[in-house]
Amino acid sequence: MNDQEVYDLIIIGGGPAGLTAGLYATRAKLKTLLLEKLPLPGGQTINAWMIENYPGFPGGISGQELMQKMESQAREFGLVIAAGDVKGVTGNGGMKRVVHEEGDYWCRSIIVSTGATPNRLGVKGEERLIGKGISFCGTCDGFFFKDKDVILVGGGDTAMEEALFLTRFVRHLSVVHRRDTLRAAKVLQERAFQNPKIEFLWDTVVEEIGGEKTVEKALLKNLKTGEIVEKNIDGILIFVGTKPSSDFAQGAVDLDPRGYILTDENLETSVPGIFAAGDVRKKLLRQISTAVGDGATAAYAAEKYLEKLKP
Ligand code: NAP
Repeated sequence: MNDQEVYDLIIIGGGPAGLTAGLYATRAKLKTLLLEKLPLPGGQTINAWMIENYPGFPGGISGQELMQKMESQAREFGLVIAAGDVKGVTGNGGMKRVVHEEGDYWCRSIIVSTGATPNRLGVKGEERLIGKGISFCGTCDGFFFKDKDVILVGGGDTAMEEALFLTRFVRHLSVVHRRDTLRAAKVLQERAFQNPKIEFLWDTVVEEIGGEKTVEKALLKNLKTGEIVEKNIDGILIFVGTKPSSDFAQGAVDLDPRGYILTDENLETSVPGIFAAGDVRKKLLRQISTAVGDGATAAYAAEKYLEKLKP
């Protein structure tokens, strides 16, 4: 159904990087299509209840509102967004193919901006109880934990932001962290340490999650003493980092051992005309502000690549 049309650029993934690439590409009058697998564009950012470090919004802005603004700004310039999951990309020459669940799309350049997905703990009971007291999104599920005792696993920015948000609902929150110092930004650490609802269980990991129909308990192991305790809880929220959503690109472009896409300074991958932007690529800092910069650079680089293709 889609094989008649040839796009100048197909952007895969509609988070901050993809939507910015879409804005720049449509303003450059490239015939552009953005493919997004979720019903709403916005990527992981849409789950952030408050973003305080994206410049231009003193007092902060919710992830949902920021992403709605980015989407409508890109649409204003004619960006077309289609739904669906991409299964693969091919094409080392001028013409490239995007393998889509409903058929193939053809184009001359591609920007991969598929972001990253939350890691799991990989412990017994986790798979069975996901959605039954185990959550990877406090903003989405916070209300279900109203007046409950919950564990939150992780010590990064996401973990601390989610912990602070969850204290609006929960009775008590125990942060389980595998070390005795947090990775999160100092400003978030300070707020978490001051919050009376939050307790920290240092040097501790979750060994097993139990419960018949919903989460009822967790086995926690202290890594320094080896002691294992059983803790009665109503829920577990897991924020232990992310993994790049790059499976579909494996074999097509070069990835690092963790699956992040390798790019040069112009964000071009190992294949000319295929670019990567945002959290899916190997980079130092994964933030909305850096994703936006990536999106702009990748779109500009794609435009220059397409100019070179012209006879
Ligand atoms: P992250 O920075 O990778 O932190 C993951 C946390 O989970 C770390 O504390 C890590 O412990 C812990 N962890 C990892 N694997 C674990 C395991 N198997 N068992 C137990 N604990 C485990 O991930 P993130 O917090 O999702 O952040 C991802 C990126 O987005 C970062 O670059 C972050 O700065 C950025 N981000 C920024 C903001 C913001 O600026 N407002 C908000 C959210 C995310 P260790 O510390 O021991 O490694």
